[in-house]
Amino acid sequence: MESKKKIAIIGAGPGGLAAAMLLAHDGYDVHVYEAKPHVGGRNARLTLEDVYHFDIGPTFFLYKPLLDEVFAKVNRKLDDKVTLIPLDPLYQLIFKHKKIYPSSNPSVMREEISRVFPGNERGYDQYLKEEGKRFSAISKVLKLPFTKISDYLHPDVVTGLPYLDPFRSLYQRLQRFFKDEELIYAMAFQAKYLGMSPWQCPSAFSILSYMEHAYGLFHVKGGLNALAQAMKEEAESFGATFHFNARVNQLEIENQRVTSIIVNEQKIDVDGAILNGDFATSIQELVDEKHRPSWNNKKLSKKNYSCSTFMLYLGLDTQYEHLHHHNLIFSEDYRSNVLDMTERLVLTPDASFYVHNPVKLDPSIAPVGHSALYVLVPVPNTLADIDWNVLKEDYTQRVLQFLEERAGCKDITKHIQAMKVITPFDWRDDFGVYLGATFNMAHSFDQLLYFRAHNRFNDIPNLYLVGGGTHPGSGLPTIYQSALISTQLLKDDLK
Ligand SMILES: Cc1cc2nc3c(=O)[nH]c(=O)nc-3n(C[C@H](O)[C@H](O)[C@H](O)COP(=O)(O)OP(=O)(O)OC[C@H]3O[C@@H](n4cnc5c(N)ncnc54)[C@H](O)[C@@H]3O)c2cc1C
Repeated sequence: MESKKKIAIIGAGPGGLAAAMLLAHDGYDVHVYEAKPHVGGRNARLTLEDVYHFDIGPTFFLYKPLLDEVFAKVNRKLDDKVTLIPLDPLYQLIFKHKKIYPSSNPSVMREEISRVFPGNERGYDQYLKEEGKRFSAISKVLKLPFTKISDYLHPDVVTGLPYLDPFRSLYQRLQRFFKDEELIYAMAFQAKYLGMSPWQCPSAFSILSYMEHAYGLFHVKGGLNALAQAMKEEAESFGATFHFNARVNQLEIENQRVTSIIVNEQKIDVDGAILNGDFATSIQELVDEKHRPSWNNKKLSKKNYSCSTFMLYLGLDTQYEHLHHHNLIFSEDYRSNVLDMTERLVLTPDASFYVHNPVKLDPSIAPVGHSALYVLVPVPNTLADIDWNVLKEDYTQRVLQFLEERAGCKDITKHIQAMKVITPFDWRDDFGVYLGATFNMAHSFDQLLYFRAHNRFNDIPNLYLVGGGTHPGSGLPTIYQSALISTQLLKDDLK
């Protein structure tokens, strides 16, 4: 590089960290401004009573090859930086009358299907075959920037578009392969990663369960937050500077370009900026509306957003042996539960929920004989008429009851040594997540590819977006992909 261009990265979430690594490695003068005192964003570590360690958000690390690619771009190996433990079975799925243990080993998975859903084995073979082809076509499409409508004419899109199967939902797509409702749910619940309903989520997202079956899932020793820490260390090793407790208050724009940022009342001149904060919140807070006609406040408010989550983090003086690493407990009427969460905007009495129990694979997260349970209940975002300030205590008790009665965690309340609760209001107010929609703008077809906020921000061409709010979407693999796309655009533009 001829001269050291100064790039401000606003936010040290997974997208910001990946961008920091990539740009610092390429010789840019990278400064990461993070409002909190630590890295990670929704992917940060939470510690209770100094001894119980949790991931705040992501616990499913899928499609490792993408993060491998980010590390390879800076001549490093992910496996040298973190300890990855493969999961088999992938998870425990608990229905009212059945338990299923899906595996990424096809012969084990076929046996599991024969045990629980005989007659669906050929459908599974077909699923692997067809979705494999689809995955390789769609993943090429997701690597493109979609900053202009003519990107739809790119040869990879022309080849990939028929595979998108745009007029079918994820649920309808899976009906092609599987007869039993619960087996469909076992391959469709991953729509939760996008905060969406399998009945509305575009069929293209069947690639999520495919990625789990084809590439497996991993636990990262210490929690997935160790990924964020490792990325920070790599970025620093290439010269990036991290500024903590450094909330960016404003971007100064002249002639449609970011010229400086205001941090703690200090003005810092920059050549370009990368925005990693929650898109809908940050763009409204940091960029005066007159500078962003294509994403004004009205347009943002009209978009559809994902559901939210109610979270319990429990430090326990016991371990529940029957719990696996990932456990999903389904509502008796899953479809109605999903409708409550995404359309009717009410709470389901027997909501589906997820329990993460990493202590089995990773004793480092709690004292000997103890455990750290993470419980996630998908709930409506803050558009719902639910006052979480009033409901927080009652709902906490209800979720503890779910654990006792539906997840088999006997006497759980007697074992609680430490507890933290995060409600949709906390996501909105403490984490700056628009509408508490934890998985960002919804991933419906009219909000994907060209129709999502572009990686190079339309109205301000030296402002780039990374993270769950931009293309290709929420979820760690797509977020890392957004960093690959946005940093490449930046490098091409600033050459
Ligand atoms: C409960 C939950 C569970 C999830 N589970 C999974 C999962 O299992 N697998 C998966 O792949 N994905 C999962 N996700 C989705 C996604 O991977 C995470 O949300 C991810 O952390 C989003 O990354 P991001 O890059 O968009 O940035 P974020 O994590 O949102 O971080 C943005 C950062 O920007 C900072 N910031 C914001 N505004 C400013 C400002 N003005 N100045 C300075 N700093 C600022 C914030 O403090 C924050 O640190 C989950 C999300 C949640 C919430």
